[in-house]
Amino acid sequence: MTLPEQGPLRLLALSPFGAPFDADEPEEVHVALANGEWHGNHLHPDSADDPVNALAIIADAVQETVTACLRQVWPVCAEHGLGMHPRDANGRLSWWCAGERLRRGPAHIRAAVGALDTLMPPRRPNRRSRRAR
Ligand SMILES: [Zn+2]
Repeated sequence: MTLPEQGPLRLLALSPFGAPFDADEPEEVHVALANGEWHGNHLHPDSADDPVNALAIIADAVQETVTACLRQVWPVCAEHGLGMHPRDANGRLSWWCAGERLRRGPAHIRAAVGALDTLMPPRRPNRRSRRAR
């Protein structure tokens, strides 16, 4: 997953209690920002048994890290400006938006988790046109 302006998130493996890595100890995996900051609980190893569940846990961890470290809501529905939440949609974990309450618009699924990038316009380098002299 990638965050606008923040670079890619990464999974960070740490030994419990910050001890030096020991192959005999189960490692703890955190979702970290590109700069290594992370927050919240580590991912439970058992979660890997169920891909949808594992993705949901990672999505939760991403949101917790982003909220705590960056103090921003992510992801936000571009249509309604609301923070979205992961929700199962026909067996596929997706970002769910509560919709426009004032207009009583329906809640909707915006994109599958991990596919949010496909909705965004391609990022262009912020280059200024050079004026010919
Ligand atoms: Zn929306």
